Parts: sequence; structure tokens; C-alpha cells
Amino acid sequence: PVSSIPRQVAAAHYSYVEPESTPDPVLISTSKPCAELLDIDIDETLSNPQEKEAFIGLVSGNKLPEETNPWAQCYGGHQFGVWASQLGDGRAITIGEVTNSRDEKWEIQLKGAGMTPYSRFADGYAVLRSSIREYLCSEAMHHLGVPTTRALSLVGSTRLVQREKEETGAIVARLAPTWVRFGSFEIFVSRGDVENMRKLADWVIQNHYSSILDSSTTEKYSAWLTEVVKKTAIMIAHWQAVGFCHGVMNTDNMSILGLTLDYGPFQFLDRYDPEYICNHSDHTGRYSFDGQAGVGFWNLTKLASTVSPLVVEELGNDKGKAEVRLREILSEYPVTFHRQYRTLMSQKLGFQTLLDDDLDEIVTPLMEVLGKIQPDYTRFFRSLSTDFRLATASDSAPQKSALKEWYAKYRQRLISELTATDEPALARADKDRTARMKAVNPKYILRNHLAQRVIEEAETGKFEGVNELLRILQNPFEDGTREEQEKWAGPVPAWAAGMKCSCSS
Ligand code: AMP
Ligand code: MG
Ligand code: MG
Repeated sequence: PVSSIPRQVAAAHYSYVEPESTPDPVLISTSKPCAELLDIDIDETLSNPQEKEAFIGLVSGNKLPEETNPWAQCYGGHQFGVWASQLGDGRAITIGEVTNSRDEKWEIQLKGAGMTPYSRFADGYAVLRSSIREYLCSEAMHHLGVPTTRALSLVGSTRLVQREKEETGAIVARLAPTWVRFGSFEIFVSRGDVENMRKLADWVIQNHYSSILDSSTTEKYSAWLTEVVKKTAIMIAHWQAVGFCHGVMNTDNMSILGLTLDYGPFQFLDRYDPEYICNHSDHTGRYSFDGQAGVGFWNLTKLASTVSPLVVEELGNDKGKAEVRLREILSEYPVTFHRQYRTLMSQKLGFQTLLDDDLDEIVTPLMEVLGKIQPDYTRFFRSLSTDFRLATASDSAPQKSALKEWYAKYRQRLISELTATDEPALARADKDRTARMKAVNPKYILRNHLAQRVIEEAETGKFEGVNELLRILQNPFEDGTREEQEKWAGPVPAWAAGMKCSCSS
């Protein structure tokens, strides 16, 4: 039976639950490329009144197809380093899974569609402000090439939701191959229920890591954990390279697929401050920008100890051997992280070859200088792509800046890749390098103050801004028109410097 009364739910990975009905749903925005993942041509759908109504019924939770059986997930988690017991989908409801024409599975969730057994003390809703942020950032991250969950649509409503002040509610329909998190495993083991943890692990492997089963390994749980470690390291290396601060890296917010999940108080860095803390509620700075790689490791150690009974068993119940194996698996984390980070930074710097010394000789010294002068992170790399010139290096590098020495080394490193160094060759090299660098150093990111601007407009019922910003973020590497540059890529205004978000959403 379906019951949304908050309660402890033992021995179960999910509970059936129906979304509440949403008053006066308004379809504020849809993401065309995300709809394509479901084989939906969104323009066509929305141009047909009947199909449009059905679509809104679906993404508002007001009219689900007969055959769906919506459910909310039970999970636990370590919040800010402390075991928090049962959490679960308190305001997210999975309305079904779609297999598309490319045989990909996408699980569709409505976030903010009402209470579930996991709502604890809260209302099951999401406000427009935080829904706009999650919606835009999911799609922005995808188009920046960062592994992430996706967002299909944003629906507003007339529901009043009480936060610090009264706000209106909204629903984001979001997509992931699965929404299983580290905390989905932790909850079982915290209750001494290894058997259900094993079932979930088997399901995840079968459905999302099936290449492990195709291989001849007899140690599938070790192989699986190894993959999770790698994917997590790769995701966080992307965050560091693009300047993304997640803000709430609790184990319940860590996807088992290594996808960026749960967009709350996240922030793209404006100024490059390695110690930046984007979450207003993170008083100790546990989730500071430079702390993210370490926290990823900490979270993986929690996952490893959670699934360790499976590893012990597949190693012939030899606990000592399992301990060594788990340590080996975890030790791959820094290796993968650094390899990925080096690759991404090397691309950002326009290098065509990967040299072992680049991290120590070029990247780290640059980050040290940037940490001191704290320029805008995104604008720095974009201008390095376009303004810095090999051919006329002496006047292009800002001579008096602390970067002077670094520019000289950087120039030498770039030149070392060339076969000819006469003026025309340098000019050609500049042109190619600029093109390469512009393709990986975004012009447009979802800055807090830009999100704030479209949020304030949306709160007065004007949704053009959300849609315009979405379109911009779907092409983050394009220069755009002069007008677009001024509106969405200008320097951060003084009033917005240091603007932070809280978890209240
Ligand atoms: P988060 O910090 O966003 O990862 O959320 C932590 C937990 O609180 C998750 O279990 C959420 O489902 C739950 N939660 C957050 N906000 C609400 C809300 N308004 N209603 C119900 N549950 C919520
Ligand atoms: Mg969460
Ligand atoms: Mg959240």
C-alpha cells in the first residue's frame, strides 16, 4: 500500500508513493537535449496541445501513465562526517524508467512532488529558487563535459512553501541511469542487513556495470568497487578543473555512477580562492573547494567498508586478504584523480602532449600564483586562450604581474611542441592553440549572480531569463554575440562578490 507518512523503513530499498497533485502547473522550461535522451522531440511535443498536456501531466506529477508505479528510495548517509541514519528520497519520487532507442535506461524523478516515507520533519517540496539552480546547473555541467545527472523540465506552481520566507514551489524532472547513492548501501549495513546490501550491489552491477560480468573475473565486487573509485576520481577531477564547488558532499549525495548529484548550495568559483567554501552552512569548511578531492576519498572509504563483507566473501573469507585488496583499490583513487586532473589542465593550457613534469612545472606553479592574485578563474583561462600570444609574447604578457615568470615558462613549454618557430609558424600555432583552448575553457558558466538574476525575474512570473540562460549554458564554449557577452559573461559585479547560498531549498 502507498503511504507517505514519514517513518523508518527497514529491510527495503524503496517504498511505493504517489506524487501529490501540483496546483496550477506552469511549464517554465524544458531541455531539448535532455528530452532527446527519452526519444522526445520536445518542440514537436509542445506544439501539439494534447501531447503538451500529457507532458505537463507527467512532469508535474499530476497525471502519470497508468503503467507507472512511482517510488521513493531509502538511503542513509554521512552528513558532514557524521552518520545521520535514515534519510532517503524525502522529496524526490521516481515516476518510472525509460529505455531509449539506444538501449540506455533513464530513471525519471520528480523533485519537489510532495512527501514520502523519507521526508522526516520536512514538507517534500522544493522552492522555485533552488529548482531553477538545480535545473540550470545539471544541464550546464553536462555541456561542460562534467559527468552529471540531467534535468528535463522545470515546472512552477502556485503552491506556497514556507522557508525563511514564504515562496512558491516548483518541480524539476531529472534523469539519471540510476539514483542509487553510496548511502543506499550504507543504510542496510548500518542495520546489520548485509543480504539486502548484496542484492542492491548485484542489481547495480547487473544493470550499470555489466561489463564486469562479461569479463572472466571471479572477484566481481572488487572489480565493481574499483570502477566506482575511478569514476568518482574522474568526476571530482572535472570539478577541480572547471572550478566547481559542490558544497554538500555527504555520502548520500555521492552517485554510485560517479555523476554529480544533488545541486544545492553549489557554486562555480568566481575569484580563484582554493579555500573557498560555497555552502553558507558549512562552518568548518569541510567541503571547501580544495578539500573536495580528499572528501571524495573519505566517502569512498565509507563505501569500501560498507561493501567489505562482499569482498571478504569473494576472497575466500580471508579478512586479511580483503583488507589488503580494499586498500589497493582505494589507492587507485589519487592515481586516477591526478591522471585525470593533469589531462584536463593540460587541455585547458592548450598542450598537445602530456608531459610527466607538467603538473609540477606548469600547473601547480600557476595555481599557486593564481591563489595569491585570485583572478576570476573562468575569465583567466578564457583570456589565456584568446589574448595570450606566442608570436608577440613580450607585449602580451602583463609584465608587472606576479604571473610574469610563469608566462615565460608557459611560452617555452608551448614552443617546445612546435617544429618551426619563425613568426608565421608561431602565428599559426597561436591560432590553433586558441581554437583548442576555447573548446575547453568556457566563456559561460552558471555564476551565482546570474542564477540570482533569472530567479528574481522568475519569482515575478517572467521566465524568459531562465530560458535564455539555459540556451547560453548549452553552448558554454561559443563566444556568443556582444550583447550575450555583456549580459552573461561580464565581470562579477561588486554587489555579487562572495554571494553564498544556504541549504534551505
Ligand atoms: P540534501 O542536503 O539536499 O542532500 O538533503 C538531505 C536529506 O533531506 C535528503 O534525504 C532529502 O530528501 C531531505 N530533504 C531535503 N529537503 C527536504 C524537503 N523539503 N522535504 C523532505 N525532505 C527533504
Ligand atoms: Mg541529497
Ligand atoms: Mg539537496
